[in-house]
Amino acid sequence: MTRFSDELRIIPRTAWLIAVLVYAGMAAFLFAVLIPNGQHVKHWPEWSQLLFSAGIPLILFVYILLIGYVNGDARRRGMRYVLWTFLASLISNGIGIILYFVLREPLLVSCGQCGALGRANFTFCPKCGAELSPACPQCRRPVERGWTNCAHCGAKTSAAAKSV
Ligand SMILES: [Zn+2]
Ligand SMILES: [Zn+2]
Repeated sequence: MTRFSDELRIIPRTAWLIAVLVYAGMAAFLFAVLIPNGQHVKHWPEWSQLLFSAGIPLILFVYILLIGYVNGDARRRGMRYVLWTFLASLISNGIGIILYFVLREPLLVSCGQCGALGRANFTFCPKCGAELSPACPQCRRPVERGWTNCAHCGAKTSAAAKSV
């Protein structure tokens, strides 16, 4: 499991910038425009007006950061990050974001030989051809550890299991 601070680093700088700007803008708008014109809120004590102005835009702040996270996370997983950023921001009530976390693909793994990134279920590295997970010595399809025979062609897999 990655730590929370590591996850925060996935959020692109642009998203932080937008989130801070939107937060400051909305807080200023609430405090300077909305509250003085509100029928009831303008009679509130000042501390609660401040709390209101600072608290409400926090929701928007977190929402923008979440969309930023979807963008950065989809990118490192080799997914269509532009499309997912678009969906996360368009589908309201955070449903686009929830959908992303349900449907996102596993993290990419780097090849031990050349460092190229590939999906976790790849058997061979797409760049240098190194074996990433056990493969059948005869048909080269993926086999699981502990299999004595290949489930695809029936060949003995003991050699494949030993080589990994
Ligand atoms: Zn490789
Ligand atoms: Zn096989």
